[in-house]
Amino acid sequence: MAKDNQVEASELFNPDGKDDIQDRRIIKGNTTGLFNLNAVKYNWAKSLYQVMVGNFWLPEKVKGLGDDAVQFKTLSPEEQRAYKGILSFLIFLDSIQTMNLPNFNEYITAPEVNLILSIQAYQEAIHSQSYATILETVVDSNEREEIYYFFKTDKHLRERNEFIGGIYQDFIDNPTDKNLFRGFIANFLLESIYFYNGFAFFDTLASQTKMVATDRMINYIRRDELTHVTIFANMIKEVKVEFPEVYDEQMIYDMMKEAVEQEIAWSQHILGNKIIGMTPENTANYTKWLSNKRLDLLGLKPLYPEIVANPYKHLEALQDNNSEKGNFFESTVTNYAQSSAMKGSWDF
Ligand code: ZN
Ligand code: ZN
Repeated sequence: MAKDNQVEASELFNPDGKDDIQDRRIIKGNTTGLFNLNAVKYNWAKSLYQVMVGNFWLPEKVKGLGDDAVQFKTLSPEEQRAYKGILSFLIFLDSIQTMNLPNFNEYITAPEVNLILSIQAYQEAIHSQSYATILETVVDSNEREEIYYFFKTDKHLRERNEFIGGIYQDFIDNPTDKNLFRGFIANFLLESIYFYNGFAFFDTLASQTKMVATDRMINYIRRDELTHVTIFANMIKEVKVEFPEVYDEQMIYDMMKEAVEQEIAWSQHILGNKIIGMTPENTANYTKWLSNKRLDLLGLKPLYPEIVANPYKHLEALQDNNSEKGNFFESTVTNYAQSSAMKGSWDF
């Protein structure tokens, strides 16, 4: 592999920078620091901007959590444990995304991408608020603390959180090309794999008319997360085009495999085998199926070609139709060099 260079954060204001589209790069560019958003190189970012702001929602407006509070007490002990443990992991994921995205954003040298990463960080903060809104209404105050700090008593969760945090921390402590690209992949995996067995659990409950308001909240979160998947997929593909010496396909495969194994182990740990509709086999196959879909987004071959069907296909009917809008943007990197990107209009 090529030498692992240090990478520097952009200066806040760099009067001698060049903002022209032909000089623009996803990382390591020489920008002034101004957000000249009339000149756009990455059209996918401008499309995502429209979708992300169009998705605006507020957790406080989601109705029916009072019904969930009554119903929560009627859930089986296994369902209650899974509900709490899964929320605890989701709370961690959104906390770390909110706090860490700005660290990576300092190294992105295209204002249209800086823009959507800022909106993403804002959305992750809203997701954190949505968990607070759920916990405020659905569970007792002592359970609230138990959920936030479940990692203190659950070794498996603690190790998982430490692993995820560790990759980001490695980049902050030692910002090299390799650690930056590794961080991009880690973001992609978090957004595209780690949330989804948790989401499937809430959909499964809702399909049995249990905890329906919680699932409504989860649907809004998922709609946002799908745009985040697309952001990082595109960033990884841009690195491949612009910095083939930084792009590392083997790293993507290795990290994906690790992510799938960890996600399966954690999900089986927290779901057990007494949740109706969620067998350990379903969990494993769903995670692998999802992984195949995510690699396909990056233009890569599946790690699990034997898994061709989504075991939770029946749950799709429950999911917000808008959730799948994200797929529209999951296309390959557009041919921006010759495209209308040079004109850079923000209109569709
Ligand atoms: Zn989120
Ligand atoms: Zn996200």
